[in-house]
Amino acid sequence: MQLRISGYAKRGILSRYLVINALRRRPLSRAELARDLGLSPAAITAIADELLEHGVIREDGYMRSERGRRPMRLRLREDSGYAVGVDMTADDALRVALLDLACTVVSECVVPLRSADPAAVVDAIGAAYREVLSAGGVPEASVLGVGITSPGPMAYQSGVVERAVLFGWRNVPLTDMVRAKLGKLVVSDLDVNLAAMGEYWYGDGGEPAADLVYITVGAGIASAFLLDGEVRRGRHTSLGELGHTVIAAGGLPCECGSRGCLETVASQRAMLRWVHDRIRAGSRSSLAVLEAITAAAVYEHASAGDSLAIEAVERVAYYVGLATANLINLLSPSLVVIGGPIWPAMDIFLPVVQATVAEAALPELAAYTKIIRSRLGPKAAVVGAAVLVLEEAFRVPVNAAGPSARLAAVGH
Ligand SMILES: [Zn+2]
Repeated sequence: MQLRISGYAKRGILSRYLVINALRRRPLSRAELARDLGLSPAAITAIADELLEHGVIREDGYMRSERGRRPMRLRLREDSGYAVGVDMTADDALRVALLDLACTVVSECVVPLRSADPAAVVDAIGAAYREVLSAGGVPEASVLGVGITSPGPMAYQSGVVERAVLFGWRNVPLTDMVRAKLGKLVVSDLDVNLAAMGEYWYGDGGEPAADLVYITVGAGIASAFLLDGEVRRGRHTSLGELGHTVIAAGGLPCECGSRGCLETVASQRAMLRWVHDRIRAGSRSSLAVLEAITAAAVYEHASAGDSLAIEAVERVAYYVGLATANLINLLSPSLVVIGGPIWPAMDIFLPVVQATVAEAALPELAAYTKIIRSRLGPKAAVVGAAVLVLEEAFRVPVNAAGPSARLAAVGH
């Protein structure tokens, strides 16, 4: 009998949740689990036996030991549960991926969107969901839930998309609609928040940083802040609008109504405007022969060595570097991860950001913060969507059982 993790975790008691969540972070021995969770070795042995029997975890070789018996390492079985990630941030297509418990992509597909009507989009999500399951050979019962990158500002608790310019939506209850269609747990968040979660959990394959800022640079510029693995949210979900922090007093008007925002000089639109101006003024560039110059073309030509394209990317990097320095002075995170559409030009972009921060941020804070490129690249948001499903599916139900439940679970 192969009892899958979803049904098992639902029936499980709190200490089982604690063990599963500890093993989601990294493989551990029974002794380490007992020590980390404050449970007795006998309790851990009983839980581990059950989880092994039900195919939720597996034994994964002996760990190194100084003396005595070498302990057996336990790890979560990657194939004991799956999550589906849906990326809705492109206007003409859905990118859908099936991920296992290690958040490895098992199968993926791109479905063109023929209509922006919410019901039609939900139908397309349903079709793509079935396609990735069948391509991955995974039964529907093994799917823990679906995570969606919201196409616009949303109310996180209710899952209502307040506004999606790409789709012309206002107040669309997206997660409710998908839940009604698929009968699964459905969660959604802004792509920048999800990318931050993806980087936190799976960016380096090792111990995640305790706090992390993720910055996405593309059509817009946004940031997300994670503390102890939780996305920090303000009163409104649009927290992290780095692109609308003012970088030039009395600067260009911004579409938000203010002036001199970071996006007026560092968004893709601002970058392309600068490139066009320079070409009109006679600058030589391999971009000049193109019929239409896109941001992707600028990144590509920069990587190929075109000096105007390189200057365009470096200019964006300088402004993003200034904003990052402000952010470091305010939050002092241990890790800043930069990703988004700029990713292909990162070899040019990142050193300029780092150099600008070194000049502009307080030295003692800048020395403490590492600035790196997104390690998941274009997959960051979809991996994060799957992480959000797992977070929700394995959330220890402390509130449901009363405030003392966590202590009770540890004590007995
Ligand atoms: Zn603005």
